[in-house]
Amino acid sequence: MLEYHAKKDLLQDKIILVTGAGDGIGKQAALSYAAHGASVILLGRTQQKLVDVYDEIIANGGPTPAIGCLNLQTATAGQYHELATRLTAEFGQLDGLLHNASLLGSLGPLEQLPIDTLETVLKVNVIAQAALTQPLMPLLRKAPHASIIFTSSSVGRKGRAFWGAYAISKFATEGMMQTLADELDGSTLRCNSINPGATRTKMRASAYPAEDPLTLKTAADLMPLYLYLMGDDSLHENGQAFNAQ
Ligand code: NDP
Repeated sequence: MLEYHAKKDLLQDKIILVTGAGDGIGKQAALSYAAHGASVILLGRTQQKLVDVYDEIIANGGPTPAIGCLNLQTATAGQYHELATRLTAEFGQLDGLLHNASLLGSLGPLEQLPIDTLETVLKVNVIAQAALTQPLMPLLRKAPHASIIFTSSSVGRKGRAFWGAYAISKFATEGMMQTLADELDGSTLRCNSINPGATRTKMRASAYPAEDPLTLKTAADLMPLYLYLMGDDSLHENGQAFNAQ
């Protein structure tokens, strides 16, 4: 676990977009970023969950967030561009982008992996990240020092039997992060990846139904790294693969 104590105003006046902000790690990241001063754009597919996070941020006294309801499985290029246009009008710049939303798909031998499952998982976990990043690049360049964070997994760094589409997608995520980081080298932008490690969320419970969730770290336990990489203390980090635990 990273020993990092974020200043209360670490993200003051920053605009940060979080995907999958309605639940699990993304929800916690949105709450933590807001608690450190950021105006958070909550992106996700379930409107009510986003509204609940919005309300929680307001109740905690955080800056007013924004909601973008978008299903990354079906979103079109037009919808991504519409979002970028809206954010340009509302905020004028983007200081941070946390690619967090993902699907687990089904676990099982690669030999029997349904190709439509592979397509769906790659669409949400990989293609959507590129499709969202592209129209947001001009906004990210307008910020003095923008940070892009990709979310990986231990199975995205070393292959593991039966993790099929999910593992393939997380290797692709690391590849996208490294490719983009090399392109960003020397610019005002940086990007890195986080492997959260085993964390008490719905996704983990569906992958390990027999596990006692109380033995796991909570999303809140991971936040020092999520804050470090989003704030200006990490300006020198680019192209690195981090572990939150
Ligand atoms: P959860 O399943 O708890 O949350 C995932 C979030 O992503 C949900 O808010 C979900 O929305 C959203 N989402 C899923 N599909 C879509 C879609 N098509 N369009 C828009 N939003 C979508 O997962 P975690 O919080 O556990 O995982 C967060 C990240 O961390 C993921 O990238 C995961 O791969 C990674 N990770 C998690 C680990 C763990 O142990 N938990 C370990 C290693 C990596 P909705 O709430 O509407 O379903």
